[in-house]
Amino acid sequence: MIGALRDGESVGVRCFDGTIEAIGADVAAEAGDETIDAAGMPLVPTLVNGHTHAAMTLFRGYGGDLPLMRWLEEKIWPVEAKLDAEDVYWGTRLACAEMIRTGTGRFWDMYWQPEATARAVEDAGMRATIGGPLFDADGRTAEAQARVSAELDALAGSPGEIDAALAPHSSYAVSEELLRWVGEQAAKRGLALQIHLSETEQEVADCVAAHGERPAAYLDRLGLLGERTVLAHGVWLDQAELELIAERGATVVANPVANMKLAVGGFLPYPAARQAGVAVGLGTDGAGSNDSLDLLSDLKTFALTQRHAAGDATVIPAGEALEIATGARAPLLVGGAKPLTAGAPADFLLLRGDSPELGVGDLASDLVYAASGAVVDTTVVAGRMLMRGGEVEGIADIVAQARERTFRLGIGST
Ligand SMILES: [Zn+2]
Repeated sequence: MIGALRDGESVGVRCFDGTIEAIGADVAAEAGDETIDAAGMPLVPTLVNGHTHAAMTLFRGYGGDLPLMRWLEEKIWPVEAKLDAEDVYWGTRLACAEMIRTGTGRFWDMYWQPEATARAVEDAGMRATIGGPLFDADGRTAEAQARVSAELDALAGSPGEIDAALAPHSSYAVSEELLRWVGEQAAKRGLALQIHLSETEQEVADCVAAHGERPAAYLDRLGLLGERTVLAHGVWLDQAELELIAERGATVVANPVANMKLAVGGFLPYPAARQAGVAVGLGTDGAGSNDSLDLLSDLKTFALTQRHAAGDATVIPAGEALEIATGARAPLLVGGAKPLTAGAPADFLLLRGDSPELGVGDLASDLVYAASGAVVDTTVVAGRMLMRGGEVEGIADIVAQARERTFRLGIGST
């Protein structure tokens, strides 16, 4: 790739076998290279969506005006009971198409039928860390363990772009026995684990009432807080919890749009988390509770809500906000890679530098406050061009297949 703009300088990038071999002003095309002319296009790392339920794109716009528990009990859970692997596959393909189009190269997913999710991610060409959710509020602990063990064994054969993870739903939907088992399995198998934490104030009050401690301390006592732990939400974390999470090296993923849609009444206290040294990423949550997967749009919301909550317009500089969306402030989310360097995975975006949103002004500021994912022209993951010129190949068929699945489930809208 030649002519891309990196920090105001024209650079070339040579990729081979999914890896960046060389990047810099002196990298030029050589005989035999397949060459992309990126003249004038800003080059930035792909974004990482730190918390999704990808296949829930099928439920987009379905019962979205109901309060949380009625939405789950009357709408989502009855339909989820009917989901088959093909539904999850096409719902995830739809999610992947939207994420590729808006600049996300990697995501962290928690959803049923994780093998179908993995197949969709592989076919879409993205990267993902995938875990089937664990619940045992119904008392069926052994069944949940058997199902997840089988899923993890099956995912172990996935290509290198796909990682398996443990995904206990939350401290309130999973028993103490099962949570301990999850911690042991994650350590034994060397896998990450992802869990919802402190999304609502009620959850914290219930945890204190049931266990005599707040959720982060509870998870820590059961062996679930560590360097391979991703905590989604973290809205109601107090100072001691933030310090504990930082000490254990766990990552917190903020989901500000889902928090507002579900009206949880707050946001991750980012300035305090940063002060404590917590690794922080950004997520959309599922399309059922957002409903968009455009991480750049959510990045603006993240920055605005933090400024508003702090009553301080200087609380998060644009460059820092952008780093949160690319995973630069949460190494676990990107597998520890330092993007856009020689030896790093060939994952990057080319942006429409001549678009109205990016044509004038500072790039980081424009990306956070002016742009949406529509400014992405080219998405490259593992050296494969998943989008060029703003068009994802096969998108019309993906949308048609996903629509068909919604009609099969009885929730389709004409
Ligand atoms: Zn979630």
